[in-house]
Amino acid sequence: MTEPLSLRACRRGHVIHYPAVLDERANEEGQEVAFCSACECGTVYFVVVDPGDGARVLLSGGRDLQERFEAQAWPGRIHSDHEGTFFYRLVPHPLDITLFLKA
Ligand SMILES: [Zn+2]
Repeated sequence: MTEPLSLRACRRGHVIHYPAVLDERANEEGQEVAFCSACECGTVYFVVVDPGDGARVLLSGGRDLQERFEAQAWPGRIHSDHEGTFFYRLVPHPLDITLFLKA
């Protein structure tokens, strides 16, 4: 089994975890993959996995950020493994991320 990847989130050194399959998915499809996750502070992070480039936190915020992400029409996927289930979205076009960040 593949261990989840971790990404440094906040200044306190908290990390967020995500399944390694997201990196694989982004590389295979040549398409950005996005998800939202919160660290122990309760801060929500909007993370994008770029093909060949890995994951980056692009935006942080509160519950409203999570809700805005959930409201996106980007195709959603659920990955499940021994860690549980993980929801993410395939970003149809890189421009969609730009628009999301501006909104
Ligand atoms: Zn934190």
